[in-house]
Amino acid sequence: MFRKDSRIAIIGAGITGLTLAYELCRRGLKVELFEAGSVVGGELAVVKVGGEPLERYYHHLFRGDNEIIGLLKELGMSSKLEWGKPSMGFFSDGILYPFSNPVDLVRFGAISISERLRMGLATKRLQRISDYREFEDVKAAEYLPGLVGNEAFEIVWKPLLRAKFGDHWRDISMAWFWGRVHVRFKSRDRLGFREKLAYIRGSFRQITLALEQYVRERGVLVHLSSQVERISVEQNHIKGIRVRGQDLKFDTVIGTVGLPILRGLLGSHTISQDYGAIAYRGALVLLMSLRESVSPYYWTNVGDVDLPFAGLIDHSGFIDASRYGGRHPMYVSNYLDPSHRYFDMTSDELLDEYEPHIKNVFPKFDRSLIEEIWVSADKVAQPVIKAGYQRRIPPYRSTLKGLFVCNTSQIYPEDRGTNYNVRIARECVQEILNS
Ligand SMILES: Cc1cc2nc3c(=O)[nH]c(=O)nc-3n(C[C@H](O)[C@H](O)[C@H](O)COP(=O)(O)OP(=O)(O)OC[C@H]3O[C@@H](n4cnc5c(N)ncnc54)[C@H](O)[C@@H]3O)c2cc1C
Repeated sequence: MFRKDSRIAIIGAGITGLTLAYELCRRGLKVELFEAGSVVGGELAVVKVGGEPLERYYHHLFRGDNEIIGLLKELGMSSKLEWGKPSMGFFSDGILYPFSNPVDLVRFGAISISERLRMGLATKRLQRISDYREFEDVKAAEYLPGLVGNEAFEIVWKPLLRAKFGDHWRDISMAWFWGRVHVRFKSRDRLGFREKLAYIRGSFRQITLALEQYVRERGVLVHLSSQVERISVEQNHIKGIRVRGQDLKFDTVIGTVGLPILRGLLGSHTISQDYGAIAYRGALVLLMSLRESVSPYYWTNVGDVDLPFAGLIDHSGFIDASRYGGRHPMYVSNYLDPSHRYFDMTSDELLDEYEPHIKNVFPKFDRSLIEEIWVSADKVAQPVIKAGYQRRIPPYRSTLKGLFVCNTSQIYPEDRGTNYNVRIARECVQEILNS
C-alpha cells in the first residue's frame, strides 16, 4: 500500500498538476508543486484585453466534458459556465462557407451534392459506432476516403488532418478521428442541429486559481519560478528532484510535463524505449485585440493548405465584445513542427507573413484595426496520435520506482483537452494509491 507519510513532488502546475495536487491533498497526502513559470496555469495562461483576462490559447468546453464540469461543480463554480451556440465557417479554395449545421452542409458548394449527402450520412454512421477499438490500428487517411468519398476527404478532412499533424497526416489513427467526431456530435443540441459550447466567465484561469487556492489552504507548498532541472534516480529508485541547483528529497515524483521535457530531466535514465516514438507538434498562436470584428463566425477552419495557418477564431463571435471593453479578440491558430522557423519570429514578423492571407479569408481585416498583439508558443503541445498509439501510451506508473507520468500523451482516443487532463489526473491518483 502507498505510505501516507510519503513525500510527493509534482512537476508542472498546469491543470494536470493542480488537479493531481487537489486529489492528493484531499486524501491527506503531503504534496509539493514545482512550477517553472511565475504563475500557475500552463497552457491556460491569460493576457488582459480591455481589463478582462483572456486565454493566450483559445479555449471552450463541449457538452460531454463531464470531468471538468464536475470539477467546476465541486469548486462551487458551476455558475461561471456560459453556454452558447457560436457559428462556424470553413474556408476552401478562396471561398468562405458557413459550416455550423446540416443545412450549411447541404449548401456547401465546395463539393458535389452527392458527396455532401454521403459525407453527412457517413458522419452519422461513425457517430453510431460506439466502440473505437476497431479503429485502433487503422489510419484515418486510408479509411476516410472510402467512408466519406474522395472529394469530401480531399477538400474537408485531409486539410484538417494536415493542419493539425503536418507531414504525419497519413499515419493518424482513425480512433483519434472517431474520438473527435464523437465529442463534437455529443455537443450538438437535441435536434443535432447546432453545437453547444461553454466558456468559463473570467477565463479558464479561474479554475486554476481556484485549485491553487484550495491546495494552498490544505498545506500544499506551491513553488513558483521553480524549474525542475533533474529527477534524481539511484538504482532504479527515485530519490528526489533538483531545483535551482538544490537537491530535494522525495519518495514519489509525478511528471506532468511533455515527454521530451521529462526525458531531459531523467538524463541517462530511461523509463521506456518507446517514449521517443511519440512525436509532438508545437502550437503557435497569435492573438490580436481588434477595434472591430472582421469575421462573421466564431471559428473558421482553413481548408486551403497554401495558407500559413490552420484556423481563425474570433472570440467575440462567442463572448460579446462588451466584456472586453468593445475589443474583438481574434486568434490565428497554427500547429507546426517544433523546429519550424515561425517559432523564432516576433509578432510583427509573423503578422507580415499572415496578413495577406488573413485578408484573403476576411477582406475587412486591416493592420490598422489592431490595438494589441501577443504571440504564444508551446513546442510540446500536441502528441501525434498515429495508428497503433494504444501500444505506445506511457503507463502512469513508470519502470522507475516512485516515478509517475501524468501528461497529455495519455489522452486517448479523444483529442487533448482540459476535460481529459482532469480525467488522467484522477486515474493517476488511483494508480498511486494502489501502488
Ligand atoms: C492552441 C490550444 C488550444 C486549446 N484549446 C482547448 C480547448 O478549447 N478546450 C480544452 O479543454 N483544452 C484546450 N487545449 C488543451 C489544454 O489547454 C491542455 O490540454 C491543458 O492546458 C494541458 O495542461 P497540462 O497541465 O497537462 O500541461 P501544461 O498546461 O503545459 O502545464 C505544464 C506546466 O509545466 C511547467 N513546466 C515545464 N517544464 C517544467 C520544469 N522543468 N519544471 C517545472 N515546471 C515545468 C510549465 O511551465 C507548465 O506550467 C488547447 C491547447 C492549445 C495549445
